[in-house]
Amino acid sequence: MGKKEVCSENTTLQKSAEKSSSLQGRIQFRTSIKRILKKVHRPLSTVHSFSDLNNPSIYYEETNYKGLPYYMPLIVIKTQGCSWYLNSGCTMCGYSMESSLGKKVPDGDLKQQIEYALCFIKLHRFPMVHITSTGSFFENQEFPFHIRNYLYERLRNLDFLEAVNTESRAEFLLDKECLKEEVKLLADVGLSIGMGLESSDSLIRRYCVNKNLERATYLKALNILKQLGIHATTYALIKPPFLTEEEAIDDAVTTIKWTVKEGTDLVVAMLANIQPYSLVHWLWKKNMYRVPWLWSAVEILNRLSCSERKKVTITGLRAVPAPLEVAHNCSKCNDKFVNAMALWRLNSDFSYIENLRRVSCECKLEWEKELHVNSNPLAERLKECYAYIEKEIL
Ligand code: SF4
Ligand SMILES: [Zn+2]
Repeated sequence: MGKKEVCSENTTLQKSAEKSSSLQGRIQFRTSIKRILKKVHRPLSTVHSFSDLNNPSIYYEETNYKGLPYYMPLIVIKTQGCSWYLNSGCTMCGYSMESSLGKKVPDGDLKQQIEYALCFIKLHRFPMVHITSTGSFFENQEFPFHIRNYLYERLRNLDFLEAVNTESRAEFLLDKECLKEEVKLLADVGLSIGMGLESSDSLIRRYCVNKNLERATYLKALNILKQLGIHATTYALIKPPFLTEEEAIDDAVTTIKWTVKEGTDLVVAMLANIQPYSLVHWLWKKNMYRVPWLWSAVEILNRLSCSERKKVTITGLRAVPAPLEVAHNCSKCNDKFVNAMALWRLNSDFSYIENLRRVSCECKLEWEKELHVNSNPLAERLKECYAYIEKEIL
C-alpha cells in the first residue's frame, strides 16, 4: 500500500471504507467496539485499589525550558476519570488505572491532592509544571470548576511559577467566554493546554484509536486557544493498533505536519506503550501488536522539516501508570537510542538524533523487514481484526 494512501484525511481507502459500509453498518461496528472495550476494561474494577486518592501521582519528563535542560514534573490529580473511558475509551489508554473509575472523588480529597502538589512545587520552586487530572482538566463533572479555581488561586500566588501545562479533550474547550474567564484566574502564570488528536486520519482516529473526536472539533478548540493566547499542544500517537510499522511512521509524519500547519504550538508525539487492561494490551498478549521501534521514532523526525522538528517532542518511554512495555529496539542498541532521545529533548540539539543514523545494529534489518511487510488495506484489516476480537472476547 502506498504511503500517502494510508495517511491523508480523505484517502481512497477511507472513502471506499465509508462508502462500502452503510450508516447502519458503521453504527453496528462502533457498538461492537464499545462492547469489546467495556469487556477489556472490566477486570480493572476487580483489581483496582481506591485507597490512594489523597496523593497525586508525580513523575518527570525531560524537556528544554527557555533554552536550558529541564526536568518537568508531571502531577496527575486522581479524579473519577475520563468520561469517554467510562463510556468506551481509547484503545491504548490506561489512564483510568489512576482514577476512581467513575466514583465521585470528594472535594476534600481533590483539595488534599492539590495541597500535596503545592508543597512539592514550593519545595523545588519549579518555574514550569504540568498538572492534569486522570481525564480532562476542563471537564466539570470530573474536575469541577470550584476545584480548578481553588488550584488557580494557589498557583497564582507562587511568585516563582511562570507556566502551567494541562490536558483536556477538545470538546471541553469550546466555550470561548468561559475559558477566557478561567485564564484570567491564573493572572501572570502562562497556560498551555494539550489536546489528544492522536491521528489526523479519520479512519485511524475512529477505528484504530476509538478517539471519538472529529477533526472539526479539534480545529475549533485549537482556534479558540489561539484566539485567547493560550499555548496549544497536540498529542499524536505513534503506532496506534492495527497499523503496520510503515503505516505508523507515515501516519505520525502526516499528523505532525498537518497539525503544525494548522497552528499548534507543540506536538507531543507519544510512542505507544502497553497499558494494562487496554485493547492494545489484549492485542499485545495475542502477538497482534508490537510497540513501535525506536528506529521509527528517528525516521519520523528525519522526515520533518527543520521548522516542524522544532515544534515536536517525542515521549512515551515513561508514563503513569507504569507501562508493561515501552517502545524499544534490541537490547544491544536500545540504551543508545533512549539516551540520545533524552539528550535531544533536554538540549534541543538535533545532532543527537542525527548521530543515531550512523548506528549500525543487526536489529535494523528486522525493523526494515517489518517496514516492507505486505498487508491488506487497513479498512479490510480492521473488519477482520475486530471480527476476530469480537469472537474471542464477547
Ligand atoms: S486517552 Fe484520553 S480521551 Fe482517551 S480514554 Fe484515555 S483519558 Fe480518555
Ligand atoms: Zn539493535
